[in-house]
Amino acid sequence: QCRVVCPTGAITIRSDIDAVWDALEDPDTRVIAQIAPAVRVAAGDAFGLPKGKSSMGKVVSALHQMGFDEVYDTGFSADLTVMEESAEFLNRVKNGGKLPLMTSCCPAWVKFVVDQYPDYKDNISTCRSPQGMLSAVAKEWYRDPERAEGKRTVMVSFMPCTAKKMEIKRPNSFTKGEQDTDHVLTTTELVRMIKSAGIDFANMECEEPDIPFGMASGGGKIFGVTGGVTEAVLRHLVPAHDTETLKAISEFGMRGEEAIKEFTIQYEGTDINICVVSGLANAHEVFRRMKAGEANYHLIEVMACKGGCVMGGGQPVKAGECVKSVRTEGLYEVDTESAIKVSDDNADMEKLYAEFLNGKTHELLHNEGY
Ligand code: SF4
Repeated sequence: QCRVVCPTGAITIRSDIDAVWDALEDPDTRVIAQIAPAVRVAAGDAFGLPKGKSSMGKVVSALHQMGFDEVYDTGFSADLTVMEESAEFLNRVKNGGKLPLMTSCCPAWVKFVVDQYPDYKDNISTCRSPQGMLSAVAKEWYRDPERAEGKRTVMVSFMPCTAKKMEIKRPNSFTKGEQDTDHVLTTTELVRMIKSAGIDFANMECEEPDIPFGMASGGGKIFGVTGGVTEAVLRHLVPAHDTETLKAISEFGMRGEEAIKEFTIQYEGTDINICVVSGLANAHEVFRRMKAGEANYHLIEVMACKGGCVMGGGQPVKAGECVKSVRTEGLYEVDTESAIKVSDDNADMEKLYAEFLNGKTHELLHNEGY
């Protein structure tokens, strides 16, 4: 096993690159990749492409060239997360469930609550992260012997995040007792793989992710910035999906640089108080406000990295460089250019719910407590 070594010597993170190459060379293995939203606005940096611009099409192309059988967009399962988390939220609001609901897609935040504020662990959404949902769905898809065609399935996720390597080991998110994601590689490790394969990344033709799990709404793709989960959920909760409405939602208060953002929306005659936090250290203040009775939140989104996953620990950054704003703008641009903006309008997801996920949503999309 090769290792990624922290430049300061403080941490050593295990890398599964060799194991992934081995799987790619095994003819009896189907190797499936998923690409997180934030990866697309950072991978191109290492190849001289404009900073913050999406290189998703080239990443898909490079992974196909390296031998991945199928390449999917984690934005697809972020759309699933929007549907599941919204339903859970409304259920808790209407039926007196535990509030505030706390988002569950950032594993560093989830661990922080479980370790430091265990009294609040039932507030964490039971939804698996988008990474967890996509791997669970794809693995289940190939449990069907006809689809599997005698091959074993290996799931590899390309993430901006080192904490995601820990998330896949949490037994509360296994399916049928099995780990769903086999390997997590960071954007930096993806760049190393592309370079070692000798791929001319900058000049590659772009390719689309594969179906059935490759289509994602703009809402699913902005999960990579702080406030993105909240914005995508609100797009789903508001019935109108026209441009003016989406613009109005984007101005509710979840965007921007502030570390702790608080705002209130009206939903079906009820005030919903929302808090969006950027940077894990700032979450202590949020708990202080709640405990002191100074805040009465209904929904809390926390992203451990300042700015969200675009600034994750697995993203390439040179010393002294600040790329947060260009990557953030890059993901909003991806959203603007997306054919569909709201998770509900993802036809492939709708089909999955209607057919394959029927009776399986709890097993595949939710955790068994924390
Ligand atoms: Fe990982 Fe940071 Fe994103 Fe949390 S905010 S999921 S720690 S990259």
